[in-house]
Amino acid sequence: MVENRSLYDRASDPVGSTPQARLAGQDVLSVDQFDRELLEYVFSRSHEMRQMVERASASVLLRGAVLTCLFYEPSTRTSASFIAAMERLGGSVIPITQGVQYSSVSKGESLPDTIRTLEQYSDVIVLRHPEIGAAKVAADYASIPVINAGDGTGEHPTQALLDLLTIQEELGTIDGLQVAMVGDLRFGRTVHSLTKLLQQYDVKLRYVSPDILRLPLTLMNQLRDLGVDVRESHDVADVIETADVLYVTRIQKERFTDMAQYDEVKDLYEITPDIMTRAKQDMVVMHPLPRVGEIHYSVDSDPRAAYFRQVKNGMFVRMALLAAVLGKG
Ligand code: ASP
Repeated sequence: MVENRSLYDRASDPVGSTPQARLAGQDVLSVDQFDRELLEYVFSRSHEMRQMVERASASVLLRGAVLTCLFYEPSTRTSASFIAAMERLGGSVIPITQGVQYSSVSKGESLPDTIRTLEQYSDVIVLRHPEIGAAKVAADYASIPVINAGDGTGEHPTQALLDLLTIQEELGTIDGLQVAMVGDLRFGRTVHSLTKLLQQYDVKLRYVSPDILRLPLTLMNQLRDLGVDVRESHDVADVIETADVLYVTRIQKERFTDMAQYDEVKDLYEITPDIMTRAKQDMVVMHPLPRVGEIHYSVDSDPRAAYFRQVKNGMFVRMALLAAVLGKG
């Protein structure tokens, strides 16, 4: 396997190195690592993975390689799709995705020690953790690639990559679109990562949330400094007719310390067939899932509802990333 390099070590990339060389042995901790060249590469490699799965269902590209999935927070899609991705590429998985409480973590083992142990068995670690920056800490200790599968309210880079791929596949472009994000923009890490990635494109951004769940100021200031056409509102009605992408998110109950505050905002938004009658014919509705009432089930049969196609894209993106960081890009 290839040598692990530290995060944002781009300065040491040989000039003109290929996307494959730039990703091999790398950690994937933040979307900040991805410029348009790398994004194009991940998209085209994901497309090849889709074709491979449709044709042959599995390959032996990563035969003999072992992935450890270490999840300190609940997950369905992210963990399952990483496991499916690794297995479809012929590798195997150590899944510590449920009941971390039954592992040595419950005995008080530190994250660095857990990581230094698990890297003895594996070639790559996928980590989800409740604290911002935990993936970076893990990467600093690990000599194998670490992939951030969500660090608290920080980032969720692989979700943002699959979100972007979904926009590209559904609408054929990203440039020129109006993307509206709705719901919990403060705690929603997928919103943070997607917002950062979209800064590399020529898009209009609309943010719909209650006051207490607005996009963090640092991100909003970044957008304004870059001169992005950005607006905030409280009401889906302000964006529904113009949005090309309606990215709906769950109110992140687990991040609230005051449950009365959560109760005030939890039912503010629900996308219904009635609301969808006002949307463009060629727009898409996306959601990182799980949904807990933000999109009515009767919207699912609308061809513009892309959230389950988005789920499938997640597996292809993760196949592309695993292959790339393991030097088989
Ligand atoms: N599954 C996504 C995440 O882990 C979105 C969510 O939980 O609401 O961030």
